[in-house]
Amino acid sequence: MREALLHIDGQQVPAEDGATMDVVSPMTGKTIALIAHATPGDVDRAVAAARRAFDDKRWRGIAQRERARVLNRAAQLLAQRVDDFAALETEQIGRPIREMRAQLSRLPEWLEFFGAVAQTDRGSVPDVGEGHVNLIRRVPLGVIGMITPWNHPLLITMKKVSVAIAAGNSMVIKPSELGPLVPLELAKLLEEAGVPAGVVNVVTGAGGTTGRALSEHAGTDKLDVTGGTETGRIIAAEAGRRLIPVTAELGGKAPVIVFDDSPLEEAVAGALFASFVATGQTCVQGSRILVQDTVYDAFLARLLERVGQLRLGDPADNETQIGPLVSALQRKRVADAVDRSRAQGVTVAAGGAVPNGDAFTAGQFYLPTILTDVTTDHDVWRQEIFGPVAVVVPFSDEAEAIRLANDADFGLAGSIWTRDTARGLRMVDQLDIGIVWINDHHRVDPASPWGGMKDSGIGSENAIESFHAYTQLKSTMINTAPSGTDWFGTTEPMRYS
Ligand code: NAD
Repeated sequence: MREALLHIDGQQVPAEDGATMDVVSPMTGKTIALIAHATPGDVDRAVAAARRAFDDKRWRGIAQRERARVLNRAAQLLAQRVDDFAALETEQIGRPIREMRAQLSRLPEWLEFFGAVAQTDRGSVPDVGEGHVNLIRRVPLGVIGMITPWNHPLLITMKKVSVAIAAGNSMVIKPSELGPLVPLELAKLLEEAGVPAGVVNVVTGAGGTTGRALSEHAGTDKLDVTGGTETGRIIAAEAGRRLIPVTAELGGKAPVIVFDDSPLEEAVAGALFASFVATGQTCVQGSRILVQDTVYDAFLARLLERVGQLRLGDPADNETQIGPLVSALQRKRVADAVDRSRAQGVTVAAGGAVPNGDAFTAGQFYLPTILTDVTTDHDVWRQEIFGPVAVVVPFSDEAEAIRLANDADFGLAGSIWTRDTARGLRMVDQLDIGIVWINDHHRVDPASPWGGMKDSGIGSENAIESFHAYTQLKSTMINTAPSGTDWFGTTEPMRYS
């Protein structure tokens, strides 16, 4: 069995009290690794190491082009290890290997992109009038506390770490206790590529203890969390109390809006992907499929047919399309939500149960589930389930589609399926949603901002904007007049400058 220690100041160290936590395979129910359970004292050590690394400028003091070279070396190392890391992700969180390989093979792009951003970033010299020159530069923030979830363990860690190191910050990462192994490997890989020890530290453990100790620690200069909306509120409140910036990527309830001019097969394939990739455990899951009433029956019939063909099984198998849910607790939450819907009069058109068969007894499987006869009063319309459950609801026209899509506390993402691009853009203008795809879903890119409106969070990841959010402005005003001003040496009217 694997034993994973904390990563502090370039060293692998146990928790100060020796405490550990089990990482359990969602497929076999067996413990696959023991991780250190960091105490508040360990978090303190990690923050102190990050602070030392920031203060002595061992990383931020290096020229940006050299930092970019290190990031490019890390990208190459990561590209060589995609298969190993993908296998480890699959083992710990149960996501099918074909998904993890596809996802991880893109992650070197984040290191390359932010290396390029760091190199091309430059300050500005705004016109402040005669007699003065104003130099504006971006400088790193300091020590960043990062708290990440289990559903895309490396992708989400990478989104935060790549930009934070490119900007010259130091950091302490608290990965999810359900998916901590690959983020720990990332810290080692970055040091192998040339990031100095102490810049990237990882403390593993539970949210209520290790996560809380990090978010409450007085030594961080920014908090960046991806997780559930309630977790985000707690962490953002801490940041508010300490007056430090926070980025929060939180829950969602994404609509998939299908118009009758969209080719049926394409729209069904799109909805299937949106709803069931990662066994439905994504923040942008297409959990509310809205279908124009003129094609509703045909769409639903074909969707149910395709749902019935999805291949559930061992996530390590290349053929598997749907793996187990991440934990027994997650499966119980999903099953309870479906049972509650049933009791409220919703129709379970597909799934709604644990699959039968020996292959499924040890794993946390749940059948891909489609619910119909859902109204906006039902809990399943409103609450994030975070599992393979989607509702299919008809609409008549654009106005009704907008009203339904916006009828949510969340505003993270959504997709529109239509051949009429003008209509697609009209819809985008009216959706209270941060990320909208037209004829696609879940497409992510380091150059494209990723962030939600309403209860889905604050700020965004990716793109130049996230580089800006990992830096602060420093303004230098230079007086270029040949002689100084003696403000108190005269009683004549003067210009305040
Ligand atoms: P979670 O909120 O349970 O945990 C997220 C992280 O926060 C974990 O590391 C956890 O240990 C830590 N944590 C929990 N309580 C804490 C506390 N009181 N103080 C400090 N840290 C604490 O979320 P999860 O189950 O790991 O992930 C699923 C959630 O994440 C879903 O709601 C999903 O929508 C959201 N998510 C959002 C995005 C996005 O980009 N918006 C991406 C992925 C997941």
